[in-house]
Amino acid sequence: MRRILRLVLPASLALIAACGKETPPPQTATAPAAPAKPAAVVPSPEGHSSPEITAEDFAGRLKKISGDAFEGRKPGTIGERMTTAWIKDQFEQIGLKPGHRDNWIQTVPMIETTLLDPDTVKLDFKTKGGAEHLAYRTDMIVNALDASHAVDLEDSEVVFAGYGVVAPEQNWNDYAGLDVKGKTVVVLVNDPGWGNRDEALFKGKALTYYGRWTYKYEEAARQGAAACLIVHETPGAGYPWDVVVNSWSGPQDALPPREDPAPHLSAAGWITTEAAQRLFAKAGQNFDELRKSADVRGFKPTALDAKLSTHFKNRIDNTSSENVFGMVRGSTRPDEVVVYSAHWDHLGKDASLKGDSIYNGAIDNGTGIAGLIEIAEAFAHQDPPPQRSVLFIAFTLEEAGLLGSRYYVTHPAFPVDKTVADINMDALPILGPTRNIAVIGWGQSALDDDVKDAAAAQNRTIVADEAPEKGFLFRSDQLNFARSGVPVLYARSGLDLVDGGEEAGRQAYADYTANRYHKPADEFDPGWDFRGVVQDVAALRAVGRKLADETTFPAWKADADFHRPATPGG
Ligand SMILES: [Zn+2]
Repeated sequence: MRRILRLVLPASLALIAACGKETPPPQTATAPAAPAKPAAVVPSPEGHSSPEITAEDFAGRLKKISGDAFEGRKPGTIGERMTTAWIKDQFEQIGLKPGHRDNWIQTVPMIETTLLDPDTVKLDFKTKGGAEHLAYRTDMIVNALDASHAVDLEDSEVVFAGYGVVAPEQNWNDYAGLDVKGKTVVVLVNDPGWGNRDEALFKGKALTYYGRWTYKYEEAARQGAAACLIVHETPGAGYPWDVVVNSWSGPQDALPPREDPAPHLSAAGWITTEAAQRLFAKAGQNFDELRKSADVRGFKPTALDAKLSTHFKNRIDNTSSENVFGMVRGSTRPDEVVVYSAHWDHLGKDASLKGDSIYNGAIDNGTGIAGLIEIAEAFAHQDPPPQRSVLFIAFTLEEAGLLGSRYYVTHPAFPVDKTVADINMDALPILGPTRNIAVIGWGQSALDDDVKDAAAAQNRTIVADEAPEKGFLFRSDQLNFARSGVPVLYARSGLDLVDGGEEAGRQAYADYTANRYHKPADEFDPGWDFRGVVQDVAALRAVGRKLADETTFPAWKADADFHRPATPGG
């Protein structure tokens, strides 16, 4: 473990610190004094937590779960066994009941697909302008999504299908009049609203679910395509090419086909913009012009004068992991449930790294698990108890593609139409006290009003997510509840810091993203100021408490990306 203390300092203090500690910081008569930072929090020792949500308890649990002993909490390792056993013990100690049909644990089956000899894999295109070979890593990345041991694609016709979107409510169909059975579909990243910034089209710059790669692969498979290639560009994807390569190379986890009966692509991949430009030019088309045409209403898909062949082999391993459940039973409506969730899994350890080799995942997602247990403890001691049941789920396999929550919604503890809401916590920033709470996916459901009220009770305000184009709503476990029709809340500290304002908040958050996110440096820091994150957790507890004592079900807004399915017979 790297022993560098990483204090998150407001910009002004960071500058002072950089100037050297011998000289006292210069003061001007007009500078407002920032509130003094509290003394370092002493984490509560295990078994000595209070029913209230406190910085000491939160810190104690966060320190424990992000400790080196848990080895980065990778599913399938000893770190998994330690983590799930510890969470179950915590649930039991604070007085929860087993939450999944009288069990603490739900086994999640999974398969791992490993591409063999990846660096020899090529995408070979025959075009009227000659052959184009795309190389692994530099031009493209590819995987099988159908759990097959061998992929053999021979002369599959290539079609450019714009954004690959079928959205009846937007009166938009990129596959209109097109039969893509057995063909290879090339699509753009993001959605048409990103392309032309028309606010009336797919929410403009904000990413809709239609812009996520998961959706594009699902839709291409539903249309009968054999392969789908997404053309990468950094602003539209929200991350650079090396992130695509890192997350798509190595073993890929998925639910077994029996758990996921929807059609799956034989070959799914990404290609760089440069590779697309070369390929389209050889096929007699101009990629940049076609790209521009794709965000205009009336776009028609274009068959390229190109055929794709590719051959590769996979190793398929069957394995499993665990979701952990605890519950407080409702006093008057126990069949209805409010869900709190957070993923326990992280990236494990990497012996090839020099120095610190453990991905402790303190922020991602030790904070979510610490928050989950703190909220559970408050509900467990609540008198009178909540009227509806409250379920606490620690999900596995979030980092592998939201698989634990995906399995849960098809094997739920309570029917989804009795599930009032999911309040999910993932990577809560620890920035010190903030004047606002950021709601990711603001404008989707009535839960916005509930969190606004909870924030107001703390003299804080609400802001919409800073970067809606990054689609954070679709990038953690709440997505699977939303897709099942259950309204979701994903909220965390905004960036307007009480000590230092927006600029300091932005800087601290950017520092986390650049230097600690998904790196071994995401580890517990005894110097952290927990005041803001504890308020965030208390606000989420207040929202759930209100929902648990209501008789109504919160509604999605009319233009939300999701809706509750019609009730049977209704
Ligand atoms: Zn996470």
